[in-house]
Amino acid sequence: MSTELAPVLSAHWEAERSWTLETYLANGGYEGLRAALAQPAADVVQTVKDSGLRGRGGAGFPTGMKWGFLPAPDGGPRYLVVNADESEPGTCKDIPLMLATPQTLVEGVAITSYAIGCHHAFIYVRGEVLHVYRRLLKAVEEAYAAGFLGKDVLGSGFDLDVTVHAGAGAYICGEETALLDSLEGLRGQPRLKPPFPAVAGLYARPTVVNNVESVASVPQIVARGASWFTSMGTERSAGHGLFSLSGHVTRPGQYEAPLGITLRELLDMAGGVREGHELKFWTPGGSSTPIFTAEHLDVPLDYESVAAAGSMLGTRALQIFDETTSVVRAVTRWTEFYAHESCGKCTPCREGTYWLKQVLRRLEAGQGTQGDIDTLLDTCDNILGRAFCALGDGATSCITSAVQYFREEFEAGMHTPASELFPPARSALF
Ligand code: NAD
Repeated sequence: MSTELAPVLSAHWEAERSWTLETYLANGGYEGLRAALAQPAADVVQTVKDSGLRGRGGAGFPTGMKWGFLPAPDGGPRYLVVNADESEPGTCKDIPLMLATPQTLVEGVAITSYAIGCHHAFIYVRGEVLHVYRRLLKAVEEAYAAGFLGKDVLGSGFDLDVTVHAGAGAYICGEETALLDSLEGLRGQPRLKPPFPAVAGLYARPTVVNNVESVASVPQIVARGASWFTSMGTERSAGHGLFSLSGHVTRPGQYEAPLGITLRELLDMAGGVREGHELKFWTPGGSSTPIFTAEHLDVPLDYESVAAAGSMLGTRALQIFDETTSVVRAVTRWTEFYAHESCGKCTPCREGTYWLKQVLRRLEAGQGTQGDIDTLLDTCDNILGRAFCALGDGATSCITSAVQYFREEFEAGMHTPASELFPPARSALF
């Protein structure tokens, strides 16, 4: 597989006023929508199915298949909801995309809505990122004024309204059913699945919930064809995606590459681990995916290979930590996040994350007790698979994998504070 890729999603991020409709059109924007409207909706769905695009929000569920799950039209409304509530620690791809070229997302929304027969789409954006919310509002306004949204889109007879909705800043609202509750004006807590949103989603109507990057990938797939997309990546993990490198890396940022690229190759692009230091551990897909170590530098970053190596591709949020970092400290910070963000609906997650945090804080302070590691693992075991939604499972991954690779650091937490072993000033991250 070639790792060479002319950027697609990020191709015009550096263009002057890249976020305006004018710049987007000057760079070939909305050709995908024109192509889509010239064919039956079912053909657009088929193209996306053939492309093998898998959901870019983390789970990797096939996008075209998800669209195909919608029941046959019954005369009532059906909705597209874009999950723009990106808030996983380390995950930072959708926000730059929406800031740099929001029209890519708006065009994707228009094509997806046409494909699934939706006349009212919603973009649910994380509440804290007010600047992104404003940019999306402006982008949607410009698209309406130019006839890409609204009544009779580009004279096709297709009508589409788009609402941009800002959440109130809760990680749980990135879980798709909690997001739907929040959008309906309720407290954001996950719903029991099934029924999946495809069958009963927003206002109990058939709803497609797709991640920002998934929807933003659609215009180019429609414009260039499914085989263009499948020519990149691997057989079962087709196409390209944004890889977010953060932490102890020389040039942190977004790197667009075919799925199946390795961390070693990405580090070459990003100038390597910061000078004078070496890789200790990293997350392949955000803090809710099991950590990897230097042993995993050559694991192809596609869904299958990462799973076979014991983790998940998730959101391709590669947080890089060098040898100055205390793994106990890093895991404690992540766990504090999960304990804070647990919605409290189910006992394993609500109580479990609280107790994990207590035990980890002891170990970080060098005041751990005999049996703390067993307590951590036992608590994780009682959360995994027993929580109401993926948040609980995600909270356990960093702990169990960190104990697997760095048990001795947790053992040291019974007598020595992490701040002595790994002075925070040297690490500059955790
Ligand atoms: P999931 O596997 O349960 O579902 C994935 C998608 O497929 C959902 O949209 C779901 O409705 C759909 N789906 C699955 N089976 C279906 C069926 N039989 N019929 C119809 N639709 C079906 O995963 P999830 O709980 O939605 O998401 C977990 C992922 O979220 C994790 O992999 C994690 O990486 C990611 N995540 C992302 C962020 C972020 O900030 N982007 C934050 C936390 C977690």
